[in-house]
Amino acid sequence: MTVVGVVGAGIMGAGVAQNLAQYGHSVRLVDISDEALRAALDRIELNCRMSRMLGGPAVDAAEVLAGITVSTDLGLLADAEVVIENIPEDEDLKRDLYRRLDEVCQPGCVFVANTSAIPITRIGSWTKRPAQVAGVHFMNPVPMKPAVEFIPGHHTSPEAEHTVRELLASMDKKAIDVNDACGFISNRISHVFMNEAAYLVYEGVATAEAVDEVFRSCFGHPMGPLQTLDLIGVDTVLQSIEVLYEHFADSKYRPCPLLKQMADAGLLGRKSGQGFYRYGPDAPGSADRAGRNGHLTAVRSGSDI
Ligand code: NAD
Repeated sequence: MTVVGVVGAGIMGAGVAQNLAQYGHSVRLVDISDEALRAALDRIELNCRMSRMLGGPAVDAAEVLAGITVSTDLGLLADAEVVIENIPEDEDLKRDLYRRLDEVCQPGCVFVANTSAIPITRIGSWTKRPAQVAGVHFMNPVPMKPAVEFIPGHHTSPEAEHTVRELLASMDKKAIDVNDACGFISNRISHVFMNEAAYLVYEGVATAEAVDEVFRSCFGHPMGPLQTLDLIGVDTVLQSIEVLYEHFADSKYRPCPLLKQMADAGLLGRKSGQGFYRYGPDAPGSADRAGRNGHLTAVRSGSDI
């Protein structure tokens, strides 16, 4: 059993905390918001109860919740052996957090960045312990995904790498090795096609439903790019594309203005109840009543918002 700190209790942090607790680790979950912590615990309980229905193992929700301690105080991480960071994809926010983690965490603690795109060597440079910083790009929803991208930074030590690999193995996660580069493998590719899918809607070439239907019915993907965008979060995808755009200075990563408009309007996808689709028990014409994919209903094009 490892004592693992999880910072950020949003979509990813809640999933990481649940998954760690399922495998018997002692989890310290920290967020700046009490409300986010409460919502994370509710979501974890629901996900545990639904695990079998969603094709996962039977999970004892009470046991999982008993393995997770929550707080808004970073001091809770003082005894953590590993800290997994899952706060928004904003370099200023993350830099400030890593500086504070350096102060509160024990010297041997290894920091794991669950970032979508920020290079791990850069994150290491924000700390006094770059040899103890590694990247793990978890996939969403974390407890259901068998693999992660594993990204050591330039200075990551073999010992820190070993610690993180062992932790991942203990959670039955396959680590796919990737050298440190902005966006790694998955987001370097997926964010280009999600962004381009948003442009198709923005330009009025097709509806979101039509774009997604091509991916599902013609390519055999289980979800279309705009459904995936809603699952990840419009704000998170936009921030990640901005990181790619800034890093490579290449117009192929130019963020679609529709994503900016949606983020400004609070249309963040599933987490806010509306993105390219609307979600919720009251939404008419639910496409997925099992709850796994939420309740898809209406599509809003760029001109609608
Ligand atoms: P989110 O917006 O759902 O959650 C972020 C949480 O961090 C919020 O609860 C917020 O209150 C909290 N937070 C903000 N500042 C904080 C601070 N200083 N200290 C503690 N908590 C703080 O975001 P998310 O989707 O969970 O993404 C988190 C990270 O994971 C991002 O870097 C994102 O790029 C990456 N990621 C996201 C996905 C995805 O599918 N959403 C997949 C892989 C990686």
